[in-house]
Amino acid sequence: MNRSRTRGLGTAAIALVATLPLCAVATAGAGTTSPAGTLLYLVPVAAAVALMAVAVHRIPLARRRPWRWLLGAQVMYLLGELLFAVLDLAGNESWPTPADAVYLLAYVPVTVGLLSLNRQRGGSSHRGSLLDACIVTLSAATLFGVFVVLPIATDSTQSALVRVVSTAYPVADVLWVFLLVRMVTGPGARTRAFWLLAGGTAATVVADVGNNVLQLVDGGASTPLWMNLLWQCFYVLYALAASTESASRLTEKKPTEGAGLTVPRLVLLAVAAVLPSLVLVGLTVGGRATPTGWLATGSVLLIALVVARIWDLLQQVRSQAVQLAALARTDPLTGAANRRTWDHELSRACATAARTGEGLYVALLDLDRFKAFNDSRGHQAGDELLKAATAAWTEALAGDGFLARWGGEEFAVLLPSRDEDGTLRRLDSLRAVVPHGQSCSVGVARWDGAEEPASALRRADEALYAAKTGGRDRLAAAPELRRPRAAGRRPVADSRP
Ligand code: GH3
Ligand code: MG
Ligand code: MG
Repeated sequence: MNRSRTRGLGTAAIALVATLPLCAVATAGAGTTSPAGTLLYLVPVAAAVALMAVAVHRIPLARRRPWRWLLGAQVMYLLGELLFAVLDLAGNESWPTPADAVYLLAYVPVTVGLLSLNRQRGGSSHRGSLLDACIVTLSAATLFGVFVVLPIATDSTQSALVRVVSTAYPVADVLWVFLLVRMVTGPGARTRAFWLLAGGTAATVVADVGNNVLQLVDGGASTPLWMNLLWQCFYVLYALAASTESASRLTEKKPTEGAGLTVPRLVLLAVAAVLPSLVLVGLTVGGRATPTGWLATGSVLLIALVVARIWDLLQQVRSQAVQLAALARTDPLTGAANRRTWDHELSRACATAARTGEGLYVALLDLDRFKAFNDSRGHQAGDELLKAATAAWTEALAGDGFLARWGGEEFAVLLPSRDEDGTLRRLDSLRAVVPHGQSCSVGVARWDGAEEPASALRRADEALYAAKTGGRDRLAAAPELRRPRAAGRRPVADSRP
């Protein structure tokens, strides 16, 4: 979006915000139910929808889809408002009217728009935030069901059409609650566009809940100015959201932002979870007629959802613990086992060798002149060599050998075997697989079956030193491997060219 276009939208947005208090003051003078009040209500609404239409078409095409649904919803709501105004000005007294059909149909695009926005922000992979939204919605649904839907649905003095339309609104309001909580608890960056959309949605939820309460209290005889203002805020805040520079970034995935279990969220969940039970207790203590069955059912379902949320958290903690344990065992650069794992594996291998009587060979591998390699090709290339050498040695040892990064450019190998010559040949062959024409030196020792594991490692280190001082790129064996053994077997040399 270029700068002059952004400035144009900004000016229009400021003008739109200014119409709100102006129209409110004028409406207060004329009265919300007067013809002038009806027309004044439409001014910010129509202006907001026009601004939103322009703003949405400036969002890049690839990111426009959810915004189009939201714009579609705004246009439908505006159509409903216009129809309502025309019928109102024509003196229509009956209810419901065709405007109600349009209002109710508009829930479809708004739901699709907000849910697809949430999905694109990474919401579908967050089971926890979905459960949070379900907990709050179920709590609202239980209370709405008991205090709004049930009385209307069972009011036999009303026609079937009146009852259906009257119950459709609170049901749709529960849907709004779900959309709002899903949005606020879902992942994604908390940009200005996000908060404006959330604010617009919250304004509708408050206005609709207020409307339902007023319907119960005085049969909906009056529409207070604040309620009109909140509905207007819905249009205006959505239009402002689409006009902000962050509107096109709203669909970006930021899975780590915003979806954590924070203290305010825990408070919200706790209040939502206990509310139906508290109402049940309050009504019972107050001696009021209590729809026990509904409230109790809602409470039981809420407990089930809270347990599901705890289970989800436990699963998360478990999988994080597994990841952490794996991280603690491996070297981050090469992915090989680290020294801590080596110590553990060495003790384990010694215990196994003592039990089976099998020979256990301990080798240290050290890349030759690695410092010079780093200096000539760069540290990054050095890192790549370490990774490639690890992969090559791991493949060569596949099956029975164990490789760990001992530190820096030194690696340690454990190889249980009954075939000493074969083992030494196998360890020696590791020199040939080092990539990029580099070489390494190898020092090897055999665990004597009773000594401390560290002693065998010390002899392997001394052998490695001998290999280095002997000219590098060779295998050197500790004294116990150089002694002549069974007749007919070739003694192993202390270093090999
Ligand atoms: P020698 O043949 O005697 O073993 O010589 P060398 O140069 O390999 O040994 P030296 O101990 O002098 O230097 C080891 C070098 O390894 C120095 C250090 O910068 C490098 N090194 C250690 N860890 C890493 C690493 O993780 N990445 C890279 N790129 N270099 C590392
Ligand atoms: Mg070295
Ligand atoms: Mg070294």
